[in-house]
Amino acid sequence: MRTRMKFTVMTLVIALLASVLAGCSSSVKSEGKKEKDLQPIIVEGPMPIEAENFAAKLDNVEEETSGSFVFYKGELDDYPVIVMKTGKGMENTAAATALAIEKFNPKAIINQGTSGGHDPDLHVFDIVLGKRTVNLGSLKTPHHDEGEGIHPKDWIPMDLMASEGSAGEDPDAENIRYFKGDEQLLAAAHAVKNTYDKGKVVDGTIGSADVWNNEVDRIQWFHENFGSSVEEMEGAAGAQIAEAYEVPYLGIRILSNNKVNGGEYNPDTAEANQEYVYEVVKKYIDRQ
Ligand code: SAH
Repeated sequence: MRTRMKFTVMTLVIALLASVLAGCSSSVKSEGKKEKDLQPIIVEGPMPIEAENFAAKLDNVEEETSGSFVFYKGELDDYPVIVMKTGKGMENTAAATALAIEKFNPKAIINQGTSGGHDPDLHVFDIVLGKRTVNLGSLKTPHHDEGEGIHPKDWIPMDLMASEGSAGEDPDAENIRYFKGDEQLLAAAHAVKNTYDKGKVVDGTIGSADVWNNEVDRIQWFHENFGSSVEEMEGAAGAQIAEAYEVPYLGIRILSNNKVNGGEYNPDTAEANQEYVYEVVKKYIDRQ
């Protein structure tokens, strides 16, 4: 009888211990899973000066490379953030963005860096939030016979996403395709505007192409016809891929030069932009 009671008590104690231990391990597991399930925020920068400052601000950074792309995988306020050095230009940005989406399933992507002003009211160190992004290299020329010359001001915008058919033949493709900046990312950027004191922060249109325009008439033509506030070489390429995968995306571009009002190129703008974008990412994380 006594032995049986002892046995029952022992069984109870063991069962209790086992359940406590199981509880512990299951809570550790679920916490681990929670952290693993957090979708990272990706911050893209084309050149070393446009990515490395931000990467240096992250905690517990692990570096990974794929082709010519470098991923700095770290944490900001215990939230996973990956800074990507994409290299310059549309092709690099499109490929890096697709790769990052497939690899890391990001919550959101910010494409940031320097740019050249198209708007005479914007000056070096001002920042443009890409309410819209547009590919300034997506153009169709009207027909001219041999000897009739080249007439860039007559070139027609071409929307490559209008249909799966021929953009050359399709009159529906003769439109400007704008990619919209994500509302929540924009709201986070608005909320930290006051942390930036080196210039103003405005909503605008970011124009992209693998072209550096120095002809003021051509810059003005884009400004008037496409509404571009600034030009750079990446934003629209990333926006197109992010839209294809339905990943929230925002371009944030500082003016490093502005041909229309004599703003000389200043590379220090790259770091200033990363400081502002850091505040934007912090705010966005805070709101998750
Ligand atoms: N002057 C720089 C050139 C950088 S190349 C140098 O010699 O190092 C162009 C890069 O700067 C691209 O990543 C592009 O996004 C950005 N950029 C800055 N201003 C630009 C402008 N006016 N036109 C096009 N791209 C510009």
